[in-house]
Order: sequence, then C-alpha cells, then structure tokens
Amino acid sequence: MTLQVACQACDAVHRSDTRLWRCGCGAALDVGFQGAIDVDAIGRRPPGMWRYREALPIGADAHVVSFNEGFTPVVRMQFDGKPLSVKQENLFPTGSFKDRGASVLISRALELGVEKVVEDSSGNAGAAVAAYAAKAGIECEIYVPESTSPGKLAQIRLYGANLIRVPGSREDTARAAMEAAESHFYASHVWNPFFFQGTKTYAFEIWEQLDFSAPDTLIVPTGHGTMLIGAFLGFRDLLENGLIARLPRMIAVQAAGCAPLYRMWRDQSANLAPVDSSGTIAEGIAIAEPTRASQILDIVHETGGRIVAVTDAEIERALLDICKQGLYAEPTSATAVAAFRKIPTERDECIVAPLTGHGLKSTEKLLKLTEGQE
Ligand SMILES: *Cc1c(COP(=O)(O)O)cnc(C)c1O
Ligand SMILES: [Zn+2]
Repeated sequence: MTLQVACQACDAVHRSDTRLWRCGCGAALDVGFQGAIDVDAIGRRPPGMWRYREALPIGADAHVVSFNEGFTPVVRMQFDGKPLSVKQENLFPTGSFKDRGASVLISRALELGVEKVVEDSSGNAGAAVAAYAAKAGIECEIYVPESTSPGKLAQIRLYGANLIRVPGSREDTARAAMEAAESHFYASHVWNPFFFQGTKTYAFEIWEQLDFSAPDTLIVPTGHGTMLIGAFLGFRDLLENGLIARLPRMIAVQAAGCAPLYRMWRDQSANLAPVDSSGTIAEGIAIAEPTRASQILDIVHETGGRIVAVTDAEIERALLDICKQGLYAEPTSATAVAAFRKIPTERDECIVAPLTGHGLKSTEKLLKLTEGQE
C-alpha cells in the first residue's frame, strides 16, 4: 500500500512506517492516501465500517482490529416540525463514534508492531482506544482530567487500561500524555492522523444510506474536530472517485461555554485565542485549545458551512426532545439538534446530524436534568 505521512505546515514527508505523531516542526500530520471505493464489493460485504476496505489505509487484513462495528442506523426525526435525519453513533461498542477512529488507529499500531500505547481524553476517546487496545492485546495507558464522568472512568479501567487522573485542565492532561509519549506510541485521537482515516467512514455510510448521494448539510458537534475532519475526508474521497457531485456544507457546533472555534469564525480571525472554559454540560466538546483549529476553519469555509454556538439551556431543551422521541444520548450529542433549530434551512434540504455518544455514559448529569422535570 502506498501512503505518505506529510506535515500540514512544512514540506516534510515522513517514512510510511513512521511512529511520529507530529512533525519535527511541531505541526500536525496528515495521511496522504487516495482511498478507493469499490461500489460492487461493498454491497457484498457485511454492514460495518470495514466494508469500505479499499479506503482504509491498513495493509494486511490480519492487522485489522474490529468488533464488526459501524453502519449505524439513520432515523428520520422532527424538531419544531422540521425533518432531520439522525445517525445513531451512540450505538457503537464503547458507546460513541470514537470507535471508528480507534479501530483504524489501533490497527495501525498493530501493523507497526507497537506494544504499548498512551492516549489522553476527556473520556470517550480514551474508552475507545482502551477497548480496541484490549482486543489487539496491546498495553494501554489513558490520561484523563480529574473531573471526568465516573461512568467513563469505570469503563476505561474495566477494559484493562492503566488509568491516570491528572489534576487541572484538559490541556494539563494532554501535556502529561505527551511526556509519556516520548517513550511510547501516542495513540492520540487529536494528533495521530490515522484516527481521522477511521472517522471518515461516517461519510461513506451516510452516502450509502442516502441511496448513494451526499446530503446537502451535515451538522457536527465539534471540539477537536475528529468527526468533522473525518467526514470531510470521507466526502472528499467520494468526490475524487466521482461518486458524488459536491461536498455537503459542514456546520460545526460548539458549546457557548467553551467556543474558541466559534469566536474565530465570528471574528473572521485566523488565530486561535485560547478561551477560559466557563463550563458546559457538553463535556465531550469542551476543548479550549483545538489542535487542528485552522484545518477545521478551512473545511467550514471550503464547504460553504458555518460555525454555530449553542447555550447549555438550548442543549438541555434539545436533549429532552431527543429523549421524548425515544432515543438516549449524552448531552454533548444534543448540541447538534440545538444547532439545527437555530439555523435557517430550506424546505427540501437534506440534513444529517449524529447522536455522537450514548446517554448511559452520563447518568449522573442526566439525573440532574430530570430533577428539573418533576
Ligand atoms: C469526541 C466527541 C465529540 C466530538 O468531539 P471532537 O473533539 O470534535 O472530536 C462529540 N460528541 C461526543 C459524545 C464525543 O465523545
Ligand atoms: Zn513540519
């Protein structure tokens, strides 16, 4: 398989078997790989993210680490009388879409012969990496902020990972993991570009589920952008293979309590000004310093999209509406529906939004919400 690992900022191209997680110049890396889509072959394979095998940059099948996950169902819902197609990414083995990225990233680690991985996360990415490392028989160490939900901590520990709780901010946790990554493979969902090669399957599935077409609009909860960037890469693969005519417009959603990308968008600024998180119920996207900020802004511009901020009150209202219609998601997921309500839409516009994580992950937070309901 021919692939390159190239720097986003300088001209450096690293060896295809590199274990680097960022360029020597400090910038993030991309996987240069032209994913192919074999339309006849995918229809013959079981429904799952690995049916797009030719688009996933792992050589031998023996290295694929998978629970036969993916092909999550899309359901038509209504909010304020407007139709929305909702993709149930909460139905993954670990309860969030992060399994898409972890499956490809841990496959890559296995392919490279890695014996131990380290990762830092506010919860869901850590759980996903821990689960796939367990499946692959790779030792795993996960760094989390001390404030992480107890349910997510239990999950990471039970998968057998060594869990390290770091006092301070999410950024302090990242720094602790980076130090550990000097001697071990950094399975970072933010830095390691192979993670995004997995999240791009979100786009392929939508295309297939919409009868081999692209939606007009995608709404994506965004912190570090693992789903947004992945969805973009996937639709770009489809475009380059001549399978769709244009990219969907991509709408990134941030929580108003921690919205550095929204501010860049609003102020038409190219520079990331770190924000103080005033706290938000949407813990999964409360990222004060998104590593790939300029890449996210570029994608939003290139696709004719926008960035929307939603308040905790709007998130809570959206979450209650989702649950009243019989689905159970964590608060971060409800940001997509909250944004859907706020944006102007066309009559026949086809809009897809994900439920990114399962409600069972955040029982303590959801219990607090029900107190206001009695
Ligand atoms: C990771 C995650 C997101 C998206 O966050 P990014 O930082 O943009 O990758 C959204 N919702 C949930 C539940 C998540 O775990
Ligand atoms: Zn570089």
